[in-house]
Amino acid sequence: MRISEIFRRMLMTKKCLACGEVISYDIKAPFCEDCLEQWQQFIKMKCHRCGHTRTECTCLPSQIREISKHGAVWCVFYDAKSNLPLNNLVFKLKRDYNRDIIEFCATEIVKNLKSLCLRHGIDYKDYLITYTPRRVSGKRKYGFDHSKRMAIEISKLLGIKTIKTLINVGTAEQKTLSKEKRKENAKQSYELSKNASVSGKKLFIVDDIITSGSTMKACADLLYQSGATDIIPLAFAKDNR
Ligand SMILES: [Zn+2]
Ligand SMILES: [Zn+2]
Repeated sequence: MRISEIFRRMLMTKKCLACGEVISYDIKAPFCEDCLEQWQQFIKMKCHRCGHTRTECTCLPSQIREISKHGAVWCVFYDAKSNLPLNNLVFKLKRDYNRDIIEFCATEIVKNLKSLCLRHGIDYKDYLITYTPRRVSGKRKYGFDHSKRMAIEISKLLGIKTIKTLINVGTAEQKTLSKEKRKENAKQSYELSKNASVSGKKLFIVDDIITSGSTMKACADLLYQSGATDIIPLAFAKDNR
């Protein structure tokens, strides 16, 4: 065990990522028993469109399909109306800065990314990581940018670099808008960051949830216009509506 890990255990209790209950370090899973059971249920959730589970479902919003011929990486279905603990996890990922949750989501993304790379003959070392930046007001309110944090965590796990490419100049929150308005809002929300150099680069772009795909598409369009040669979207969850 690493020294840093020993200190971490001495100073902090391990808590279930979903409900926050204190759990033993001897339990390998990041969840308490109840939440682990529900997490396993969550993984078996079926797609509301094709009826397949996560591993077989290939449905993606058209805007995501337009970004890359390789598709996108996502780890779990997200159902905003479900009472299962994952909802809590996604909620916390956005609202409370919790390194364990960020690490967990990043690890899941990396697992799925590696399998996509294998299927498509991609070497992830050829890519850099970037992210869809959070709105300034959101960053101020919650004190952090969860997509950026996930991107940094993923880059550590893969040994590749994170670069800042975009800034968020938007004012309206995507989730409060209709599908059509989301597209328009997303287009107006992002700009290329001043010192971004993406010409000739292959990029993974990180966001929390794929819903309509508008955010990823708006960001990818800007990056392609600036000379990026390939962009693969990475998200923790995909909306199951
Ligand atoms: Zn729990
Ligand atoms: Zn499906």
